[in-house]
Amino acid sequence: MKAMFNLFALGALILAVGCHASPTNNIAARPATANSTTNQTMKFPVTKTDAEWRQKLTPEQYRVLRQADTERPFTGKYWNTKEPGVYRCAACGEIIFTSDTKFDSGCGWPSFYDLAAEKKVILREDDSLGMHRTEVICAHCGSHLGHVFDDGPKPTGLRYCINSASLNFEKTNPPPPRPGEKK
Ligand SMILES: [Zn+2]
Repeated sequence: MKAMFNLFALGALILAVGCHASPTNNIAARPATANSTTNQTMKFPVTKTDAEWRQKLTPEQYRVLRQADTERPFTGKYWNTKEPGVYRCAACGEIIFTSDTKFDSGCGWPSFYDLAAEKKVILREDDSLGMHRTEVICAHCGSHLGHVFDDGPKPTGLRYCINSASLNFEKTNPPPPRPGEKK
């Protein structure tokens, strides 16, 4: 009888883990990969409970930033923005990108070939949805921003493909510093 109970408990555990493996689930609950192991134990400067994030963010921002959802292409507010300014993480306010490195990738999401400064994001392997991609998360608060691909323009060759819902644009005058001036 006890063995049967253990079997049942094991089944329930597998079900629970399987459920957490869904790409729509919380980032912290996603399965560990070689690169994400350290991230999951990493302490971010900004930490909030799930309830606090739900309260702070709009439902769409919460789905994207905290559950790694992806907005539909050509629907976000910034995919075609060309004004000079900075793009902050919509969850914590940290400046992640500037308009200087934004380019028209034609993919329907805001695309950048470089960060506003080094160490603004953390990259981790993402094997969800049957694809192998590199996820981009905010180094300040751990929120999901988008993915990075290696088919971007020079000089980096990178394409940071970011959800508008993960960003807050702030117009600047004069324009933001060039990427070469990053520390
Ligand atoms: Zn952030």
